[in-house]
Amino acid sequence: MGRWGAGGGEQQLTLQDVAQLLRKQECRRVVVMAGAGISTPSGIPDFRSPGSGLYSNLEQYDIPYPEAIFELMYFCVNPKPFFTLAKELYPGNYRPNYAHYFLRLLHDKGLLLRLYTQNIDGLERAAGIPPDKLVEAHGTFATATCTVCRRKFPGEDLRGDVMAGRVPCCPVCTGVIKPDIVFFGEELPQRFFLHVTDFPTADLLFVIGTSLEVEPFASLAGAVRSPVPRVLINRDLVGPFAWRQRHNDVAQLGDVVRGVERLVELLGWTGEMRALIQREEAKLDAKDN
Ligand SMILES: [Zn+2]
Repeated sequence: MGRWGAGGGEQQLTLQDVAQLLRKQECRRVVVMAGAGISTPSGIPDFRSPGSGLYSNLEQYDIPYPEAIFELMYFCVNPKPFFTLAKELYPGNYRPNYAHYFLRLLHDKGLLLRLYTQNIDGLERAAGIPPDKLVEAHGTFATATCTVCRRKFPGEDLRGDVMAGRVPCCPVCTGVIKPDIVFFGEELPQRFFLHVTDFPTADLLFVIGTSLEVEPFASLAGAVRSPVPRVLINRDLVGPFAWRQRHNDVAQLGDVVRGVERLVELLGWTGEMRALIQREEAKLDAKDN
């Protein structure tokens, strides 16, 4: 990696170079930061994009203002709108896409140190990436907690109620059970603090499908050591890639899935990807039937 070290050669790194580093296993501690852009190809609305986002479709949720849906105070008074969203996003409704399966393949090859995701759709788990490789920075529907007695429940225990449009209640104390999605003002999951060791020890960073606008998630892109290549696969140039670019930064702009496909081609993993997706889709088909 010395070629691209800080203060080293000035030559700009390319996606091809990054593919080479992965193929030769010169990079094998890959940290990935992912956002809504990897899930929109699965049909999940980007919460923040005008027109298609959650915030533009308030009527169906019957909330006074957009943020209310993730506010604890509001939830205590009226949990229904949040559970309308939960029903929509509950694991099983949507399927992972090419981008998720690329991350799964990185894991299968032993190259994924950690995947930090801002998404709450659970598609990383659905793609077969084990929870210990994940930091779901904005929480998950896979687990839930009673808002009164703090008992923990698997998300599956709530499925019946959520799908039937009922607010799930604790069998012990009758308090409302809230999926472990991070609401405004709530602390990030404990696992988020893995970043303290993950980022300084990473040897490659992928930033995929995120506008890098939400803190503290956004600042993490600057937390890898300066000689470490950073690869942005995104519609637009964002965050430090726009305002403090390093010569070992690579930006693959445009359609996210197309960008990932291009990388997979350069890696020579196209066949493996096809086989993996076929296998996983067959599993999901069997589940649905
Ligand atoms: Zn309880």
